[in-house]
Amino acid sequence: MNILLPTSTAGSLPKPSWLAQSETLWSPWKLEGEELVEGKQDALRLSLDDQRQAGIDIVSDGEQTRQHFVTTFIEHLSGVDFETRKTVRIRDRYDASVPTVVGAVERRKPVFVEDAKFLRQQTNQPIKWALPGPMTMIDTLYDAHYKSREKLAWGFAKILNQEARELEAAGVDIIQFDEPAFNVFFDEVNEWGIATLEKAAEGLKCETAVHICYGYGIKANTDWKKTLGSEWRQYERAFPKLKGSSIDIISLECQNSRVPMDLIELIRGKKVMVGAIDVASDIIETPEQVADTLRKALQFVDVDKLYPSTNCGMAPLSRRVAKGKLAALGAGAAIIRRELSA
Ligand SMILES: [Zn+2]
Repeated sequence: MNILLPTSTAGSLPKPSWLAQSETLWSPWKLEGEELVEGKQDALRLSLDDQRQAGIDIVSDGEQTRQHFVTTFIEHLSGVDFETRKTVRIRDRYDASVPTVVGAVERRKPVFVEDAKFLRQQTNQPIKWALPGPMTMIDTLYDAHYKSREKLAWGFAKILNQEARELEAAGVDIIQFDEPAFNVFFDEVNEWGIATLEKAAEGLKCETAVHICYGYGIKANTDWKKTLGSEWRQYERAFPKLKGSSIDIISLECQNSRVPMDLIELIRGKKVMVGAIDVASDIIETPEQVADTLRKALQFVDVDKLYPSTNCGMAPLSRRVAKGKLAALGAGAAIIRRELSA
């Protein structure tokens, strides 16, 4: 990246209310058929324009074409039965009714590749595309076939790699894997989680990122955060092994979180997407607050490796709040750029 402190978002942005009910996760589409296809593309263009106006450097689709960051990907695979649902505990935190793995998982056709091509046509800026990571995918399913979390994760890693290679060929500059599960299942992360993630990214020549957060600003997550104590040291468990991994960029939650900033020292040498926008609050950060977070992070990240970002996706926020937060991110990064060039 030739830009100093290139800004980006961790993932989703709110959808327009004519496309899906706003401020809701898993919000059902309001359009169907050809209208839905067009509506998603229109929403993608609006979302891109919001990012452009806010001065975001690495842009994304804002996840306008998917209902949910994990489920939409899985819906396109064979081996998973969406009619047979079981209630499981997601990331040890909340119960959800999830689909069942009934056979070998396979990707019969590309999932997001056409959407990525469409985004590529709309902009010359660097683009980032998010995919769920293997460990987070298995955690959102009931497995009646593999009977092994690890085996299922390897199955997904292979599929993700097929998709990632096609996204790269479509012109995606950064492929990001979302692994909030890395902040929960520490033994598995080190035993096979990072290995399956590397498998998903195998052979890619574009940059790769892993996004590890404390989740969307939904109640189950904010309640969980209250139990984590005064210092959130979860990252400490995965960082040593991630530092030695093939993944280029690590995306973290730093704004209003209780993550001690010095934990970032453990991944010195990696590029770090520093979350400087709290997605669990409607209060819009000031550019100065964003700049403060980035300044603190700069103690532990080399300046050419710091990528200002959001803590997580902003899908559940209102469009007004999300736009304000995007603008604050762009303006906050600009403050630090000015300081560095002075
Ligand atoms: Zn996240």
